[in-house]
Amino acid sequence: MRNRFRNEVFERDGHTCAFCDNTENLDAHHITDRSEMPNGGYVKENGITLCPTHHLLAEQFHISGGESWEESMHPNDLYHKIGTTKEVAVRQSEKLNQFT
Ligand SMILES: [Zn+2]
Repeated sequence: MRNRFRNEVFERDGHTCAFCDNTENLDAHHITDRSEMPNGGYVKENGITLCPTHHLLAEQFHISGGESWEESMHPNDLYHKIGTTKEVAVRQSEKLNQFT
């Protein structure tokens, strides 16, 4: 599930960071934290490809418990960037167990 998540996210984003041209050491960032998603949120609608620098900036939201975030790095900004919403991501995540 983890690997499929990574592969689907990387493929959709063209194996490039969503915020810069970096193609090295990419991470599939969970836009909404795993603990807050049904079945861990391992769906591409909850993932975005980020380089180490932008991953760190995106994590600020989770690290601060949702208190602060970098500009353009709020989860809603990230969902917007990949053309989805949290509602869609939650709905897709709820389906995960039906196929396992
Ligand atoms: Zn980047």
